Amino acid sequence: MARRTKIYEGKAKVLYEGPEPGTLVQYFKDDATAFNAEKRDVIEGKGVLNNFLSELFMNGLNGIGVPTHFIRRLNMREQLIRAVDIIPLEVVVRNVAAGSLSKRLGIEEGTPLPRPIIEFYYKDDALGDPLVTEDQILAFNWASHQDLDDMVALAVRVNDFLSGVMLAVGIKLVDFKIEIGRQFEGDMQRLIVADEISPDSCRLWDIKTGQKLDKDVFRRDLGSLTDAYSEVARRLGVMPKSPVPIKPKLMN
Ligand code: UDP
Repeated sequence: MARRTKIYEGKAKVLYEGPEPGTLVQYFKDDATAFNAEKRDVIEGKGVLNNFLSELFMNGLNGIGVPTHFIRRLNMREQLIRAVDIIPLEVVVRNVAAGSLSKRLGIEEGTPLPRPIIEFYYKDDALGDPLVTEDQILAFNWASHQDLDDMVALAVRVNDFLSGVMLAVGIKLVDFKIEIGRQFEGDMQRLIVADEISPDSCRLWDIKTGQKLDKDVFRRDLGSLTDAYSEVARRLGVMPKSPVPIKPKLMN
């Protein structure tokens, strides 16, 4: 394979220069990290599953008119995406209390929320991605009023879509995180869903048993992460015949 220019390497993905201007290739690694990378492991096959699952969700969103960075999947671990300027905020949507919300506010995990809650976290590993208010976002110019309105609208649509997709296969979408980027078209900019949507960035509970089918399996040592992600992929009809991990290709 031709050598490509690496643009960025994160904890779970690598971005390479794309084949044409305005595009990037997003490569899904098998690395799993939690607690701001204090816990880490390599989970063989995770990258393949997340590549296919993110494709499914992003494609579905594109199909209902929610713009995303996804163009097409290239192979088992890579997808072609639109280059965007990532807004330095993680947008979290919650339907059921869990994780940091439960810890911070003392609300028992599993408590249904009276309405979806949207939160913003400032993307800064050194600070541990702190929760931030809209006033802070505006004061420090991380996003404008219009951006915030657009981000909330995108987050709500993603929540409705993903909740429905999951419900249809017996899974409760407890919460999730998305990242949003600015795409420039001449002088115009629009906000689109970027990064990934996968069990790494969602909490997914089996509706009947409550079994966790997401990264909490890794965070809390609850069993095999590959089995959990494969179960999500199997129910959604993604890679139904090939849940077995595929070894990573060496890049560069
Ligand atoms: N999340 C994520 N990346 C992060 C932080 C959170 O994808 O850096 C996701 C997480 O998987 C969960 C949701 O956002 O689905 C809410 O996470 P929470 O704030 O409860 O934090 P956590 O308990 O994961 O520390």
